[in-house]
Amino acid sequence: MIFDCAIIGGGPAGLSAALVLGRARRHVVVFDDDKPRNAVTQHSHGFLTRDGVQPAEFRALGRQDIAAYPSVAFHAARIESARKLETTFEVVTDSGEIFESRTLLLTTGIQETLPAIDGIYDYYGKSLFNCPYCDGWELRDQPLVIITEQEMGASHVPQLLYNWSQDIVVCTNGHHILKEEQKLFFEKYGIQVVEEKIAALVGQSGQLERIEFVNHPGIERTGGIVGVQWRHATTLGQDLGCATNAMGGIAVDEQGRTNIKGVYAAGDTVTILMQAQVLLASASGSKAAFGITNELISSYFA
Ligand SMILES: Cc1cc2nc3c(=O)[nH]c(=O)nc-3n(C[C@H](O)[C@H](O)[C@H](O)COP(=O)(O)OP(=O)(O)OC[C@H]3O[C@@H](n4cnc5c(N)ncnc54)[C@H](O)[C@@H]3O)c2cc1C
Repeated sequence: MIFDCAIIGGGPAGLSAALVLGRARRHVVVFDDDKPRNAVTQHSHGFLTRDGVQPAEFRALGRQDIAAYPSVAFHAARIESARKLETTFEVVTDSGEIFESRTLLLTTGIQETLPAIDGIYDYYGKSLFNCPYCDGWELRDQPLVIITEQEMGASHVPQLLYNWSQDIVVCTNGHHILKEEQKLFFEKYGIQVVEEKIAALVGQSGQLERIEFVNHPGIERTGGIVGVQWRHATTLGQDLGCATNAMGGIAVDEQGRTNIKGVYAAGDTVTILMQAQVLLASASGSKAAFGITNELISSYFA
């Protein structure tokens, strides 16, 4: 069977596209290897009607909605490779199964690496987060830390986080990324800067209590924001020849079309860390489904 669309990645972006395509009576196959970016967090915020939902529950609810549309199939598998044939695409799973489709939608998301600080992953998603819009409300008015080794995180994030708490310490973990004028600016607003290397994060069950430094007195902090390094969850976009945008994401137009005819992308793999949210990923998946349907219709009437 040749599917109308193979969706690679069954997170919010891929599931939203599958819903729209299923309702448009398209034959779709969704592949997912169940490694979502927000698996570390317990509650996902800011999606109207689903504020505070558990990420796994959100996906289960999405799958439940899609189950009403029989032309959508799911495969719990990782796609290892994708290539263009003459008029269709071929994708191969990690167990060697081969599928063919008229279009491809990449909704594979991103993966993150945190600064190399012992035990930091124990706190990520519980009291240390990446996005103030996602988790700032839960951190409001608390003594917060921003752990960042990158200049971008040190300049914009403190100003943003100040919206939720004015008790902020910026820790650069031994990296000298701040200019003198930035330090003066932070001083003016009572934001402390510690440029010493972090020796340990202290807390219980993911709840941060204290930060110890190699060469500086420890500080009491109950949560905060950590700057991450990101990478695409797959190289499929690159392998297919998709162009990238200014952030390193897959470049798409308003309907999710990449520069490769028949290949679409949506969600975090497009936006990277800029406005990366469940609702926005879902919206971009829906938009891509419009684009895919338009392409399939136009080829039918050609
Ligand atoms: C700590 C943390 C907290 C967050 N909190 C919030 C919040 O409160 N509110 C909010 O709106 N957003 C939040 N986010 C952001 C949110 O998780 C993302 O914006 C959203 O999940 C992006 O959806 P997506 O579908 O693009 O990617 P993902 O949700 O990452 O889904 C991608 C899917 O593709 C699969 N996949 C990847 N490669 C392959 C392959 N080769 N084959 C098969 N499957 C593959 C993965 O396993 C994954 O299931 C948070 C993120 C983090 C890290």
